[in-house]
Amino acid sequence: MFLAIGECMVEMAPSGSGTFKMGFAGDTLNTAWYARKYLGNDWNVGYFTAVGTDQVSSEMLEFLQTANIDVSGIRRMDERTLGLYLIQLKDGERSFAYWRSQSAARCLAADRDVLEASLEQAGLIYFSGITLAILSAGDRKSFLEAMRSARKAGAQIAFDPNLRPRLWEDPNTMRACVTEAAGVCDFVMPSFEDELTHFGDADPKTSVERYLAAGAGSVVVKNGPEDVLCARQGTLRAFQPRPVSNIVDTTAAGDSFNAAFLAEYLKSGNLEAAVAAGAGLAGRVIQQRGALVDCLESV
Ligand code: ADP
Repeated sequence: MFLAIGECMVEMAPSGSGTFKMGFAGDTLNTAWYARKYLGNDWNVGYFTAVGTDQVSSEMLEFLQTANIDVSGIRRMDERTLGLYLIQLKDGERSFAYWRSQSAARCLAADRDVLEASLEQAGLIYFSGITLAILSAGDRKSFLEAMRSARKAGAQIAFDPNLRPRLWEDPNTMRACVTEAAGVCDFVMPSFEDELTHFGDADPKTSVERYLAAGAGSVVVKNGPEDVLCARQGTLRAFQPRPVSNIVDTTAAGDSFNAAFLAEYLKSGNLEAAVAAGAGLAGRVIQQRGALVDCLESV
């Protein structure tokens, strides 16, 4: 199973004068959704999180199931519900308001047995810096320990640092925890812009070296239209993504890249084919509006 772990939120997007359309969204969810499209039937794709027992939580699970994503491991909690965000438009610019501090997903690692049970079937586990950011300090430790045990038991671990300092208590904690997480991973898949802003890396090669030094098995640095750098101890290769015109909305570029990269790598073990798949899918996703774009026919 390809198992993504994180927070899926309710999204309220403006649909007219004063009305909103409800959807579900989240970085790790995007990756699971695209991985499901890209992987063949010999792989299950699952999502692990915690949700409430209320109607909106049930609707989110239905949404995932309709997308053929396995939700059987998801933790349900009576006393909490989903996080929510509202998108507002002003003069063509989008702004976001969040209600997520009490979301059930913040407790996804609070019950270690439930978390570990969900990992048992996983051949590849994918999580992000957002998955870590929303947890308590104690749960982060427990989560990373669970990742270490799953890896020892044979799972591969993939991680996108997805640096969002506003979700963390402070930037130093974010940097320390993301660095520790990189050390338990087979694949660390950052976007250079984040690394430049929050780690002060001079160039993508610096990000590669920093994550290899932290103990990452392989590092894949995305950088918008620029070269994707792929490295493991001793080798560094650069791949130029195919140029993309008519860019409409870059939401989920990195999430979709990660999904197709990992899916192709799991299928073929070929790095060049994996980057081409990742960049090919991300290139199509950014040519359309929204995070979840049906573009498999052209993958
Ligand atoms: P994120 O969404 O995490 O910021 P990036 O901007 O680094 O991700 O982009 C992820 C991938 O999407 C890139 O590696 C590339 O394949 C593709 N991509 C993003 N922007 C462009 C662009 N302007 N032209 C071509 N490909 C792009």
